[in-house]
Amino acid sequence: MVDVAVIGAGSGGYVAALRAAQLGAQVALIERDQLGGVCLNQGCIPSKALLRSVEVYQLARKAARFGVRASGMTLDWEAAQARKSRVVQGLRGGVGRLLDRAGVEVIRGEARFVSPDTVVVGRDRIEARYFIIATGSHPARPPIPGLDLPGVLDSQQALELEELPQSICIIGGGAIGVEFATLFAGAGLKVTLVEMLPRLLPLLDHSLGQGLQRSLEWRRVEVLTGTRVTGIEAVDGQLQITMTTESDERQVRAERALCAVGRRPNVEGFGLDAAGVRYNGSGIAVDERMRTNVPTVYAIGDVAQGRWQLAHVASHEGIVAAENVCGQDARMRYHAVPACVFSSPEVASVGLSEEEAREQGYDVQVGAFDLSGNGKALAYGQPEGFVKVVAEGEVGQVLGVHAVGPHVSELISEGAMAITLEATLEEFASTIHPHPTVSEALAEAALAVEGRAIHSSRHLLLHR
Ligand code: FAD
Repeated sequence: MVDVAVIGAGSGGYVAALRAAQLGAQVALIERDQLGGVCLNQGCIPSKALLRSVEVYQLARKAARFGVRASGMTLDWEAAQARKSRVVQGLRGGVGRLLDRAGVEVIRGEARFVSPDTVVVGRDRIEARYFIIATGSHPARPPIPGLDLPGVLDSQQALELEELPQSICIIGGGAIGVEFATLFAGAGLKVTLVEMLPRLLPLLDHSLGQGLQRSLEWRRVEVLTGTRVTGIEAVDGQLQITMTTESDERQVRAERALCAVGRRPNVEGFGLDAAGVRYNGSGIAVDERMRTNVPTVYAIGDVAQGRWQLAHVASHEGIVAAENVCGQDARMRYHAVPACVFSSPEVASVGLSEEEAREQGYDVQVGAFDLSGNGKALAYGQPEGFVKVVAEGEVGQVLGVHAVGPHVSELISEGAMAITLEATLEEFASTIHPHPTVSEALAEAALAVEGRAIHSSRHLLLHR
């Protein structure tokens, strides 16, 4: 009998285990595969490591613009893959050492509930006062004929490609799809990116998908929005992908296709019914304390129902669940979840989109600042994108911050902090931002609401 048994050692599970151990609990962490879960082994980290290789390659190709003479630049994909594996292995080892130092017992194998307070792992039975389920998710497979043909990849297979093809058609224009479009276009492939809804990144502020589409098209990605893939066939050694719009049908040929249409929660096959836990196809039902309907069973991360399938949300939910099972009273608040897309340029967003703010009845004010007027972006050689602030009209409380541009993933935490602390535009604008940084554009965007942006080179008409 342990105090807490955590099932799944991904971003949610291993953080929950560490937090519970910090609070003095005796913790078992059960993992059927590798420590670190999808994020560390098949998601966030390997994708960013490969994106970095391609970014360096692209920068090297443009070296002359920066006054650096270099020639014979090639991308050594095998070496990039080897570097990616070293980064992943290093981090995985670090997670193992953290768990070891914290006294968390790591149990290797697949857990299956036989009752609300017992799981079996192989021949072992593990009883716990509390369970935290953190079993994560797997790639969704829409019912598209031909999706099981050789050459049609999921995100994990795409990250493990030993050789690069000449061309790829990516189905799905969400975060994962656009990151892969950036990766493969940067590596020199002919990329077609297909999104069924009218714009890329459909869950975020409309200006972000529009801005990113322009940037991807500059990088020679063919972006097809409002387009549904209806079938895939093997023709002449290639894949022929058939797609329809409201008025049209067309075919695209590519050596490979990648299905990146989202992820489904791992709710099957480990005895949730035996535990009496309520769930459906969208995941396990939880409240803001991460409790399921069974008082001693909690669920976190991608397997829990909710809007966000993000590593930092899983980790935060892990901390909340661990604190609650250890007798504290912690709650999740989802109004300030930052979301980043590591495309080129990057996209970052937190809080309400302009459309959501209007739908919720706010008297909305919007300010935006174009990065063509930002010194750091210019010096950096990427004066591309913008920062947009959404606020309500009465006291100017900041409701959302949205950005496209170089390294904007690093500035969005300021937006998250502003929303968490209920900051106003005035407080945002009067905060001294260091120069030269892209973050200066945040203060300028806040000032732009009242037409006071100091460096306003041109006004954006982002949305009308
Ligand atoms: P997971 O990481 O999926 O971990 C679940 C673990 O549970 C797995 O290790 C699994 O083996 C184990 N498990 C499952 N069932 C059992 C069982 N019965 N017994 C024992 N073990 C079990 N998010 C970001 O925030 N930023 C990014 O940049 C980002 N990039 C991504 C890129 C890609 C290509 C992908 C696919 C995802 C990306 N994500 C990103 C999403 C992120 O990876 C997930 O949100 C995160 O991994 C969820 O963590 P989790 O702990 O809920 O589940």
